[in-house]
Amino acid sequence: MAALISGAIDLGGTKIEARLFDHAANTQDMRRVPTPRDNFDSFLAALVGQIRWLEQVAGDPSLPVAISIAGLIDPRTGIATASNIPVSGRNLSRELGEALGRDLPLINDCMAFAYSEAHGGAGEGAATVLGLILGTGVGAGFVIRGDLPPRHAGLAVEIGHLGMPARALARHGLPIWPCGCGRDACNENYTSGTGLRRIAEWAGLSDPDPVHVAGRAATDPEAARVMEIWADLTGEMLYSAQLMLDPQVIVVGGGLSNIPGLPERLTGALKRLRLGQVSLPDIRIAAHGDSSGARGAALMAKAGKA
Ligand SMILES: [Zn+2]
Repeated sequence: MAALISGAIDLGGTKIEARLFDHAANTQDMRRVPTPRDNFDSFLAALVGQIRWLEQVAGDPSLPVAISIAGLIDPRTGIATASNIPVSGRNLSRELGEALGRDLPLINDCMAFAYSEAHGGAGEGAATVLGLILGTGVGAGFVIRGDLPPRHAGLAVEIGHLGMPARALARHGLPIWPCGCGRDACNENYTSGTGLRRIAEWAGLSDPDPVHVAGRAATDPEAARVMEIWADLTGEMLYSAQLMLDPQVIVVGGGLSNIPGLPERLTGALKRLRLGQVSLPDIRIAAHGDSSGARGAALMAKAGKA
């Protein structure tokens, strides 16, 4: 088992996935358990169990392991904030370290995704890479010359919770929808998979499933219209990212990255909004799919960057 060089945990609201990677960052083994959501103790026990499994399979109790978490860890206080994992308000780093007998790094999943795609992924070679996940929600991470920028409060690129511009909602006559973060009309309420479904329901489509709507767009004018609205609003969100971060490459992952022709559709939307004739970022689809966050965490653990 000498080829197994690092491990990662993908910690989300539905599953705790443990993955072992070889020297080329390919998955060698994987085990998935459901995320206990009722209380912290059962959650912590499940997480420790997954890490012990990685150590056992690798035959190495000091195997480099990093944890990609769908949440935020404040680097100054260690306090976690997550909406779908029972860790909010807890010092997860410290409590996990005490349970394991060693400290493991915790990395925001969107940052881990961006790191993965910047290293041997769709953003390889670019000076700046914005990794954008369009899934149930929307999140992003940013890599500059191969490194994650230092974080003050542990935030990633929280573009999903920037406000959707009023001009964009007015253009389509869309209502202001509330967000799970407690505010209203955040980008992700319109641009995530959940948002696309909601736009389809608002438009009166009988089958609002996001994948079905995207699949019907070539032949069904109503589905095509919904996809145009969604792409226009997603273009507004990308335009905000361009104005703030000016990335060379935007790598898109998450469930909506499977929409046929997505890079062309989003590039077209961004082109209509752009400032003057400024160059556009190159929009690409993630190379490492659902395992990209874990892969990024494993690469960081191996490189000692996490
Ligand atoms: Zn929000």
